[in-house]
Amino acid sequence: MRLFVAAELPEVLLDALSETSALLRGQVRGRYVAPDSFHLTLAFLGEVPSSQVPDAAAALDEACAAWPPIPVTLGALGSFGRARGAVLWQGFASGADELGGLAGDVRECLAERGLAYDPLAFSPHVTLMRRADIASGVLPMPVVEKGIIETVTLFRSDLSGERPLYEPLHSVRLEAVDGTQDPWR
Ligand code: ATP
Ligand code: MG
Repeated sequence: MRLFVAAELPEVLLDALSETSALLRGQVRGRYVAPDSFHLTLAFLGEVPSSQVPDAAAALDEACAAWPPIPVTLGALGSFGRARGAVLWQGFASGADELGGLAGDVRECLAERGLAYDPLAFSPHVTLMRRADIASGVLPMPVVEKGIIETVTLFRSDLSGERPLYEPLHSVRLEAVDGTQDPWR
């Protein structure tokens, strides 16, 4: 099965990303990611035998145990690939270093269990569009919001249908060590 590990996004960020996506709709042609699919990929494993799912889940448990919830702020729009067939995404103006640390721990714990992942350097982003035509160079100002990342999930990706389906297989909540409720204080 096709697996990846992603941070789930709190409602306040999903709402902001949906608003940015709605702004893009007026201006950019391409394939829109459905808001209920927005996520922040930390590690992409690709095809893995189902017998190794428990190892991947254990890697998540171990990697996330040391992490409290991570406050983040949405940032600028960016793209990967060609201007007439781009992946268009929204990045993070704060929290990127912590997200990088978490992604590094997840990857290390996967490697320790013999699980391979795409080794491309982590670049925190939430994909909003694929095959986007951004050749005109005109993009709206994204909606920016802050929120707290509290859940990391192992997903199975099913690409057989009309749109990608992500099935959560195992989730871990990031717990504040001292029980503090509000990381913004
Ligand atoms: P589709 O491939 O149909 O456009 P998708 O990219 O959302 O849909 P997947 O290809 O299964 O679905 O990818 C799942 C997640 O992993 C997405 O966030 C995707 O951007 C990311 N991803 C996919 N391939 C890689 C890769 N080689 N390296 C890093 N991340 C990847
Ligand atoms: Mg893909």
